[in-house]
Amino acid sequence: MSNTSYNPYAIAQQQFDSVAAKIGLDSATCELLRQPMREYHFLIPVKMDDGSVKIFNGYRIQHNDARGPAKGGIRFHPQETIDTIRALSMWMTWKCSVVDIPLGGGKGGIICDPRNLSEREQEQLCRGYVRQMARNVGPVQDVPAPDVMTNAKHMLWMLDEYETIHGGKYPGFITGKPVGMGGSLGRTEATGFGVIYVLREALKKLGIALDKTTASFQGFGNVSQYAVRLYQQLGGNVLAISCYDAKDKKAYTFRKKDGFNLDALTRITDSYGTIDKDKAKELGCDILPGEEWIEQDVDILVPAALENQITAANVNNISKQVKVILEAANGPTTPDADKVIEERGIFLIPDFLANAGGVTCSYFEQVQCNQNYFWGKDEVLQKLDSKMTSAFNAVYELACNKSLRMRDAAYVIAINRVAQSVKGRGWV
Ligand code: GLU
Repeated sequence: MSNTSYNPYAIAQQQFDSVAAKIGLDSATCELLRQPMREYHFLIPVKMDDGSVKIFNGYRIQHNDARGPAKGGIRFHPQETIDTIRALSMWMTWKCSVVDIPLGGGKGGIICDPRNLSEREQEQLCRGYVRQMARNVGPVQDVPAPDVMTNAKHMLWMLDEYETIHGGKYPGFITGKPVGMGGSLGRTEATGFGVIYVLREALKKLGIALDKTTASFQGFGNVSQYAVRLYQQLGGNVLAISCYDAKDKKAYTFRKKDGFNLDALTRITDSYGTIDKDKAKELGCDILPGEEWIEQDVDILVPAALENQITAANVNNISKQVKVILEAANGPTTPDADKVIEERGIFLIPDFLANAGGVTCSYFEQVQCNQNYFWGKDEVLQKLDSKMTSAFNAVYELACNKSLRMRDAAYVIAINRVAQSVKGRGWV
């Protein structure tokens, strides 16, 4: 999205093709899995506050639902593209499969900038999206969730519209709902915490003490904020965080050599993850150009923003000190950069494994909704930890046994499970 010279869909297909060839997948299964099964593109008219009507483009793409209803977020972004959503829907299939939850992969988006829309306009947009998609989504078809620039409030408006149209209560239609309104405790934290659960496991395997490590994060939205929180609680030291400033139309890296006070930092951050520069200076942060997050002398790099952020153009700026790249975002590394990372022997924890905590907790949310009985936060987080830990261990073991990179090992497990499902159902 932010680096348009790389097409995420082409990258997702390239990754799939290379692993499919390695495991000798038959051609029909390859053809079925290397593209989405269903794609919807529609227009959403919204009456704006000034009385004018604006037409927004909405998308929902269901990559594969052989293992269960399609599952995945809805993003709001001005540079959203159909190919990005195609790639993300595909990655959702692999994500649900690698953590072994009974769900398929889907993704949606609206081309819009919510930073320039009022609450009422955003509500109309959410309701309009559901009106267009109401027949093709639902608890047993396709279950949306929050993603980039969407949150629990948007999910509740969407749920309300869906229930109004269908005339009943369908809490399983959507996840990431507010707690007390069908949402799960721990869902807000889940993606960020999940990222750190797998990091903790990886560092154990690598024989590195987490509480002696330093990290640099790209992005300071929901995922990053909770990942930083847990990483710090476990004793890690965050030295740099970068974030995009929509007013200046560029990113900045905030550096604090002695580590950040997270509570102080979140207090000066808006709901889109933009840190206030002036107030950050008062907290003693150095303010550097946005791209410098990747050049810091730290042990761990955490891209936690958008796709295509580590590219051929900047991969060689990664410090010699970096031992682990933890892909909290979806698709942050381009294939050319990925190759360099492999050659340098940096341990990379791939996106659809690292950030699977969000959808895993969404699955827990569905289970709780179905039982109409909600668990305590400790129970949710403990179940999340155990799911992430076993998924990480399975991928790591395969990577070691078959001399595969972590990304390829994760793909082998995920693709095999989905292939087994489409074959078992007699689709191919
Ligand atoms: N948007 C999140 C993701 O990319 C969560 C999806 C979900 O909960 O369905 O994994």
